[in-house]
Amino acid sequence: IGGFANVYANIQKAVGATEELMEILDESTEPLDEQESQQERPGFKGAIAMEKVHFHYPSRPDVPVLKGIDLQVEPGQQVALVGASGAGKSTLVSLILQFYQPTQGQLYFDGQPAAAYGLSELRNQMAVVPQDVFLFGGSIRENIAYGKPHATEEEVISAARQANAWSFIQAFPDGLDTIVGERGVQLSGGQRQRVAIARAVLKNPRILLLDEATSALDSESEQLVQEALDTLMAGRTSVVIAHRLSTIRSAHKIIVLEQGQVQETGTHQELLQKPDGLYQNLASIQFES
Ligand code: ADP
Repeated sequence: IGGFANVYANIQKAVGATEELMEILDESTEPLDEQESQQERPGFKGAIAMEKVHFHYPSRPDVPVLKGIDLQVEPGQQVALVGASGAGKSTLVSLILQFYQPTQGQLYFDGQPAAAYGLSELRNQMAVVPQDVFLFGGSIRENIAYGKPHATEEEVISAARQANAWSFIQAFPDGLDTIVGERGVQLSGGQRQRVAIARAVLKNPRILLLDEATSALDSESEQLVQEALDTLMAGRTSVVIAHRLSTIRSAHKIIVLEQGQVQETGTHQELLQKPDGLYQNLASIQFES
């Protein structure tokens, strides 16, 4: 009888969890085409353009998040997005990834409207390195090869090397077969990030979307991560959500967003020279601190 309360609580938990599961099952699926997912579009260069893009989330139609964004990213260019939290940086990246469609305006890849491409075809050309890297419960090998499941051992090792991850992976007794995730070895923030970078290197995409980590890494691992990112970005179109201005000094273009609008565009030097500019303000706060 003493145990009944516990049993009841567990049943309640299961009911709650099942409801959430049902909600996920009820979500409409994206129009993914299985055959097309294997295809690659030869000659895809990786230019991105936005024309007067407006967007609000379906769940909150009364809150406009992006208000008339114009954007031009040339193939191979590195573009940094800066702005206060809530300015719309992640939303903009979600639109590039085709998680949502603009409510108004157009998105172009290589000069063609996004709708001219299949979803998988576009996403095959992109890789994301998120802020908080999620590792699946499984081996490091599986976690790296996730972007390209049939990759050979050599390809996985070469990707890990380029991501500055090979030395720590090698140091584990099980190497690439080390189990990570909830039930395995817990990797540090910098290590997880390098696994995510290796994943992206292996996928070899034309377009890279990076959400720079805000959580402080120690300076050694920060340098390793930065080096790996620089290798990864070379020659690819990259859009970086930047939190620390020190890392984007060399970006080809910096876009300052405020409340869903582009306020300033230019290089680090150009933006610093704008008297009373938003970027100048952000820079003075960060560099002072
Ligand atoms: P940033 O990345 O610049 O911090 P976000 O793009 O995450 O900004 O958010 C922009 C605005 O959109 C915020 O006001 C936020 O509350 C809102 N928002 C973000 N995600 C969602 C969502 N899934 N549903 C509804 N509103 C959202």
